[in-house]
Amino acid sequence: MQIKAPRGTYDILPPDTGKWQHVEAILKETAENFGYREIRTPIFEHTELFERGVGTSTDIVTKEMYTFRDKSSRSLTLRPENTASCARALIEHSIYSGILPAKWYYIGPMFRYDRPQTGRYRQFHQFGVEAFGSNNPYLDAEVIILLVEVLKRLGLNDYELHINSVACPRCREVYRKKLVEHIAPVKDKLCSDCQTRYEQNPLRVLDCKEDACHRAIAGYPTLFEHLCHDCARHYATVKEALKASHIVFQHDDNLVRGLDYYTNTAFEIHIPGIGAQSAVGGGGRYNGLVAECGGPDLPGIGFAMGIERLLLAVDTLAGGEANESKTDVFISIMNDAYEQQALELLTRLRLAGIRAEKDYMGRSGRAQMKYADKLGARLAIIIGEEEIAKGFYTLRDMRGKEQAKIGGQDIINSVKHRLATA
Ligand code: ATP
Ligand code: MG
Repeated sequence: MQIKAPRGTYDILPPDTGKWQHVEAILKETAENFGYREIRTPIFEHTELFERGVGTSTDIVTKEMYTFRDKSSRSLTLRPENTASCARALIEHSIYSGILPAKWYYIGPMFRYDRPQTGRYRQFHQFGVEAFGSNNPYLDAEVIILLVEVLKRLGLNDYELHINSVACPRCREVYRKKLVEHIAPVKDKLCSDCQTRYEQNPLRVLDCKEDACHRAIAGYPTLFEHLCHDCARHYATVKEALKASHIVFQHDDNLVRGLDYYTNTAFEIHIPGIGAQSAVGGGGRYNGLVAECGGPDLPGIGFAMGIERLLLAVDTLAGGEANESKTDVFISIMNDAYEQQALELLTRLRLAGIRAEKDYMGRSGRAQMKYADKLGARLAIIIGEEEIAKGFYTLRDMRGKEQAKIGGQDIINSVKHRLATA
């Protein structure tokens, strides 16, 4: 029986890895420009971290986690997201008592038992940032500007940014009661998921993807109308800061996000051109998270983006720039007896930072040249009987086919010079 990659997972092979490297380099550089530093946390954590940090009524915790017992019967979970792990690390290493805000970014695989389809996998990758320690609304703006800047640098200019305020727990409680009163008479028209959401966390009904649920609750009271003075001011300041930075956004009453720990600013960014899974990223403030995970009462804000969806967008909308690694110089030997000379020259070239390659399949001289073309080599160095006898190399331009005799001392400089020109 042939063994295949598990459902919802896939291999990233060259040359596609070049596209990943290109996108990852832009993500990292943008985050670093904004003052965020990389954090790497374990791929698995104690299950309880996600139950507490993501929330037991969320889709992630109720349906999507890869949870298993290890040989000592501990319950562990493959991380479905990285914010809870960042909060855990912040607490575990007492980062909160150091210089604040702590500004981190991450890139890595996440695991969710989702229904696989284009843009939705069981092992997928996220890039995200987290800033802990400040409730300043200009930090909210910074994080959103960073999210938008990433898209711009990837050449993705057709996006829709939705924002809302999910308020503080106090205004949310007042609002929750009003929403329950509004939904109660139409409760039976909701999908089965929303019936459970109605019982456990009625705000989630607003987040439902079923049109029928939206029709049933039409005319619902909005959170925006229920913001307390502080929450309203925070939200107004974020919007002003975005406007002043020429960031186009729209207020979205339906945007409540899937996670329990969000407070105040929530946002989501869509690229409509990439199909059904158009949400490329989302995030918000989570002032309750660090305390929920057992730490001090420390505010935070962040976002996560799906790298598969970013790549899909880059491929379909921005011409799919790849960072394809091509061979610079191919060394061709006319006889097995010159293997050692070829190896030495290969090493010299590589140590000089030149991408050099040779044949390992016993190809004929002509087949070696064809292979060199396939590798995209700009130059070839031929080592044959005459070259060995007289102590020079034949350097061939693979495009124009002109050849030159170059002495052993000069070969590295000659190659560099030819690569730099043309
Ligand atoms: P969705 O509504 O699409 O399931 P979500 O609300 O579960 O998204 P978040 O938890 O906000 O997603 O994760 C942030 C981003 O990670 C999403 O906007 C998306 O780009 C990406 N993402 C989430 N789940 C998956 C998945 N199963 N496969 C690929 N990308 C994903
Ligand atoms: Mg999801």
